[in-house]
Amino acid sequence: MLTLLFLHAHPDDESILTGETMVKAHRQGHRVLAAFATRGDAGETAQDLGGQTLGERREQEVRLACEALGVDRVLFLEYDDSGMADTETTKNPKAFCNANLEEVTARLAIALVNERVDIVVGYDRNGTYGHPDHIQIHHAAHHAAPALRASWVLDATYSREFLASLDDSGYGEVDENFASPHDELTHFVEGADLFAAKLEALKFHTSQTPDDWNPDDPEQVVGFAKQFGTEWYIATPVPGDTGDTGNNGDNEPPPLEPLFTPKDEWSGAPPPFTPTQTK
Ligand SMILES: [Zn+2]
Repeated sequence: MLTLLFLHAHPDDESILTGETMVKAHRQGHRVLAAFATRGDAGETAQDLGGQTLGERREQEVRLACEALGVDRVLFLEYDDSGMADTETTKNPKAFCNANLEEVTARLAIALVNERVDIVVGYDRNGTYGHPDHIQIHHAAHHAAPALRASWVLDATYSREFLASLDDSGYGEVDENFASPHDELTHFVEGADLFAAKLEALKFHTSQTPDDWNPDDPEQVVGFAKQFGTEWYIATPVPGDTGDTGNNGDNEPPPLEPLFTPKDEWSGAPPPFTPTQTK
């Protein structure tokens, strides 16, 4: 049994980027931890929050989503949401994009003192799409992994070329600042039943649901499955000191399979998803 720490920037990132992986890990009997750098308080919502702050609402939503995804423990690192690049909120000294990585690591290490983390999951160096908090998650995951004595860091990402190849996806002009080149990817997680679980978890994030998104519209769901049905990763072993036996008690990092499938086994497209599978 492995312990996986998913490091996320904002509530809803866990479902969109790693929801299938969380469910699969849970079903395989692994321990699943989710740490959120922020509560997404600089986001927007069209909803009436009835006296709650957006951060309070999003914490409530993400706790429900994580429960549905089989997450064993949810924690918050208590930074402020940095908001989008080039906005005023990125200047906030408490914003996650300005956090000192030693301090982030210390907050994680203290919160996880009784855990034995094997795998830290963060984001690729572009933070998938360039959000300052997402880029910081990349740095934080790689910085914290050795201190947590983890064996692997996995960057959650998208296949740049695959998304650009899709008709009508709007990714026709993806560039080097977006996600990762397909060549760099190492592993993936996918499955129609896992995707159904991801969709169910996303439904809890009502404050973030775009007005034009209808999870009961088959056409929209199939389009979303094509784009986000495969969760891609770049796996990097954590460099350790010679003689450090690591958390799993031997010198070999634990195998990533069968939770993560090597890239060369990918069929070239996510599994076909039919909306009846959500029922
Ligand atoms: Zn985010």
